[in-house]
Amino acid sequence: MVTQIWHVDSASPDPTAVNAAAAILRAGGLVAFPTETVYGLGANALDAAAVARIFMAKERPASDPVIVHVHEMAQLALVAVEIPPLAYILAERFWPGPLTLVLRRAAVVPASVSAGRDTVAVRMPGHPVALALLKAAQVPVAAPSANRFARPSATTADHVREDLDGRIEGILDAGSAWIGVESTILDLTKTVPMVLRPGGVPVERLREMLPDLEVVSRHLHITDTQIEAPGMLLKHYAPHAELRLYAGTAESVQAAMQSHAAVVRRDGRSFGLLLPDREAGAFRPQPDVQFSLGDTAEEISHRLFDGMRFLDQNGVQVILAHLFNSEGLGLTLNDRLFRAAEGRVIAADDDRM
Ligand code: AMP
Ligand code: MG
Repeated sequence: MVTQIWHVDSASPDPTAVNAAAAILRAGGLVAFPTETVYGLGANALDAAAVARIFMAKERPASDPVIVHVHEMAQLALVAVEIPPLAYILAERFWPGPLTLVLRRAAVVPASVSAGRDTVAVRMPGHPVALALLKAAQVPVAAPSANRFARPSATTADHVREDLDGRIEGILDAGSAWIGVESTILDLTKTVPMVLRPGGVPVERLREMLPDLEVVSRHLHITDTQIEAPGMLLKHYAPHAELRLYAGTAESVQAAMQSHAAVVRRDGRSFGLLLPDREAGAFRPQPDVQFSLGDTAEEISHRLFDGMRFLDQNGVQVILAHLFNSEGLGLTLNDRLFRAAEGRVIAADDDRM
């Protein structure tokens, strides 16, 4: 299959391209498209055969459910049932935007979308291209991130091509996704609202409205069947290189990373850094491949997955990174880094290291 690429303006996409992509979705095909979080791989959410193709193209296990994207409130009531008033209050406040709500699944949505669960995860994306596509398609669109399973999420059309070229009908290319990390997933089917995955909406902003909010710490779990947020396996978003993730005081982390980098260099291996620019600039020895991650949490979120892919493509064998202060987007960054490191964190303050 030849994957068609449509280059479109991110603010006002060409309707001809959008309509062509929408027709493919309606006919049961797969189209990748930009959202404000990451690129999504879309299929008609009401068509079980189309949804099955998402799993095949991504090599995604059937146990990992997919988020359904809608462009208007009427579609929310199509895909979910027993919707609590709180869902509408949150949607009013955060949609279109990077918040996904887990609700009771309507029978019209194939069980495979939700990995057999009786719930469905729903979001209204804020990117004009995503909204235009959803509107033209006139069906809710199931769309996980447009990367092969366990690879860093795709934040550009090039990332999508790298992973899915020849496996999908088309890609709407509107430059890089804005936020760069996925949506925050909030489960409203429990007795208390529960964050299953930190994402683009900081947990603090939800807590302003939901004081009893709980945040699942799923890193304690090992297998997919045990966990609240299926698909949140460790070893997700993983680059091919060995990612060494450090935690501790700023000084001890820098010292531990630099002494390890010296060992890597001495052994004739190459390394790269996924560190804020101000730290990377002062790092010795200098890395074999440079990548600019930016300095603010927003910049770092925007570039994190791109950095993992870039360092991989340039052949580094080791990537050094550290956890951040877990406020705001820091919690999301830590979650993605933690999983990219397959759950291994090196305690820089621990002198047994
Ligand atoms: P992705 O779109 O690739 O970021 O993956 C979607 C993620 O959303 C899955 O890996 C799940 O963790 C989560 N998700 C989707 N549907 C549900 C659901 N019905 N219940 C709980 N989590 C879900
Ligand atoms: Mg994903």
